[in-house]
Amino acid sequence: QTIFVPKEVDASEPRVAASPETVKRLAGLGFDVVVEAGAGLNSRITDADYQAVGAKIGKVSDAAGADVVLKVRRPTDAELKGYKPGAAVIAIMDPYGNDAAVASMARAGVTAFSMEFMPRITRAQVMDVLSSQANLAGYQAVIDAAAEYDRALPMMMTAAGTVPAAKIFIMGVGVAGLQAIATARRLGAVVTATDVRPAAKEQVASLGAKFIAVEDEEFKQAETAGGYAKEMSKEYQAKQAALTAEHIAKQDIVITTALIPGRPAPRLVSAAMVASMKPGSVLVDLAVERGGNVEGAEAGKVVTTANGVRIVGHVNVAGRVAASASLLYAKNLYAFLETMVDKETKQLAINRDDELVKATMLTDAGKVVHPAFAEAAA
Ligand code: NAD
Repeated sequence: QTIFVPKEVDASEPRVAASPETVKRLAGLGFDVVVEAGAGLNSRITDADYQAVGAKIGKVSDAAGADVVLKVRRPTDAELKGYKPGAAVIAIMDPYGNDAAVASMARAGVTAFSMEFMPRITRAQVMDVLSSQANLAGYQAVIDAAAEYDRALPMMMTAAGTVPAAKIFIMGVGVAGLQAIATARRLGAVVTATDVRPAAKEQVASLGAKFIAVEDEEFKQAETAGGYAKEMSKEYQAKQAALTAEHIAKQDIVITTALIPGRPAPRLVSAAMVASMKPGSVLVDLAVERGGNVEGAEAGKVVTTANGVRIVGHVNVAGRVAASASLLYAKNLYAFLETMVDKETKQLAINRDDELVKATMLTDAGKVVHPAFAEAAA
């Protein structure tokens, strides 16, 4: 059976869904792997690197012969036309709010898997694309903030005088926020952080940062069984805003990462809070693609406010460290695909009762099958 790895059609997507390591392993599972010419170039992987581990270099039309397509982004309608009905397509499908695109995949007859729905259980940790990519995004957010900031981050005591340490506030301490804390600490900043999940408090402390939050009764209940944040009440948000407003005015850099699954990102930083910061301060909004945590943030732009504060709204931040991001992403996909291959026959054998398959399968045999989208499609 054949696997096809295309070059991403979205010009702003530098990542690729296979690495030399995973191609080698996929071949070991019994697959013929065809990689589209140039697919890895933006992640510093050459066609020769793939060929050296047994891949064939092909062109877009080779998708027609593939039983499995490994991608970063959801396939476009044009791409879907080139796929074989029944092919398994594995990618970050971003299906919320994209019902038409989900319906297109059903119509194309492909079995589409949305990697971001992988359950966060021990067995699936190695397949967790949200974590592998958010970790790098959290790191890169601090690097981007440092690049925009016109002062040094660590305290420096020199013969010519002392540079004070930068104060960095991280809002939302999931995977990205925790890595942002660790990175900011490595660069010598004084770091504080906030989250609505009580479990975050200990994690923040263990990284040597200070936790800032309104810790009332609602806060104590703010985590779902799945470990995600709940949308907080208007009252809580108001109390939290008052506390953070006072804190943000004293910060040099604010990095926001707050997300609620399936909902728009919570608005945590108002224009007034941005205006309260000193000229030269920097905000990085990692949630900008999901509506943004910071008022005034614009996707794909660095906005400078009237008072000289920069709001960084880069999109696809993991893609800004594409070579690292692709290696981890490719490994996530490989680990998942491996669970769907019969080791004896060396054929794809998708077990539709497996919990990982059930959680991630969006479309199958012409239908939208995922419970979160099936109703809209019917
Ligand atoms: P996420 O990307 O969904 O959200 C980022 C953070 O924003 C979360 O910590 C969330 O609590 C926070 N947030 C939401 N609303 C907020 C608000 N109003 N103010 C402040 N913060 C707010 O989160 P994530 O990085 O995907 O992590 C979610 C959870 O999953 C965490 O508990 C994490 O430790 C856990 N996790 C578990 C595994 C695993 O067991 N395999 C892997 C990764 C993450």
